[in-house]
Amino acid sequence: MPETTLRSAFAPILDELGRLLPAGSEVLDAHTHLGDDEDGSSLRPDGLLAQLDIVSPTARAVTFPLHDPDRVPAYRRPNDRVLDWAADSGGRIIPYCRLDPADDPIAEAERCLARGARGIKLHPRAQAFLFDGPEMDAIFGVARDAGVPILVHAGRGMAPMDSLADVALRHPEVPLVLAHAAIAGQGMFAERLAEHPAALYDTSCFSAIDVVELFARVPAERIVFASDVPYGRPANGLFQALRVAALAGLDEDDRRLLAGGTMARVLDREPLAPARPPRLEGVRPASGPLQRVGSYLMMAFGALMASGGPGRFNPALAAPAIAMARCVPRDPDPGPAEPALRRIDEMLAQAEHLIANPSDGSIAALGLLQAAIVISQTEPLEA
Ligand SMILES: [Zn+2]
Repeated sequence: MPETTLRSAFAPILDELGRLLPAGSEVLDAHTHLGDDEDGSSLRPDGLLAQLDIVSPTARAVTFPLHDPDRVPAYRRPNDRVLDWAADSGGRIIPYCRLDPADDPIAEAERCLARGARGIKLHPRAQAFLFDGPEMDAIFGVARDAGVPILVHAGRGMAPMDSLADVALRHPEVPLVLAHAAIAGQGMFAERLAEHPAALYDTSCFSAIDVVELFARVPAERIVFASDVPYGRPANGLFQALRVAALAGLDEDDRRLLAGGTMARVLDREPLAPARPPRLEGVRPASGPLQRVGSYLMMAFGALMASGGPGRFNPALAAPAIAMARCVPRDPDPGPAEPALRRIDEMLAQAEHLIANPSDGSIAALGLLQAAIVISQTEPLEA
């Protein structure tokens, strides 16, 4: 498939994104990575900026290192690289420092903050720690003194995270961003941090359902768009966040906050919008055919996950489940979801073509697959 055809496959997604994003929105991706990862993933600033440009020429991103094989000692070299890249980005890359709580975290945090870091990233799975050690209060204390947020991985592969809620409640003045919609403890965090003044949730998730549920559990004013590049893409991530926002009935001002306004206020130490009750009900109407399609597409995604680290995806493994998903739209009586089913089927046909012709860039099929999952899980339906 030539480049122009590839672009036309994504054009309807970008068109809808343009309609969902209110005019004049500030776009700020709350969670991206640069550098190299042990899992084979890698990204450099020109690649990140090119992906942000697809959303908006002024889009910015919070950025920190990956699980870099060069991280010892103390993540110093990956942190320095991110700080250097950010300094050359004209303000579009906003650097955080990544810390290993077992490897000199306080000195490294202070060193990076003095060099211009605007926040701290902690990854309790990759660095294998809990939040019950004395160094945690020290790290939160450094963030408090510097007035910067802490972003914590709260996604795949986590043990119960109650100790993080404990330390967050001891330091309510430190903004806390729970990555990946806090799926490792979404209900627990939603309950225990309900009165925390600055507990935020980023939207980077494999399944839009996790973000839909987030809007049923926490205030929309505490949810921030994120893509987790290079594991996601800003255009796909913002499409997902804004599709869910539309389902939740967010008006233009609320969507501006989600796309970047709230995260900008955190970084600029401005007051957050008052938290209102969650916008979605816990029990919602559903379309049977869309649920069937969405289930098969999550199976396709699972097959990809099993094919190795995210940097080593083999899109061909997704093909059988995509073929099963395409059986559903052949239903002669699909009900009110028919337009969404037809749209998904077209996207999957394009994805199948890309997978069958690897020289055309089969990895691009992942973006179509992910967008099809988002549509299947967020199509507004009447009860
Ligand atoms: Zn990440």
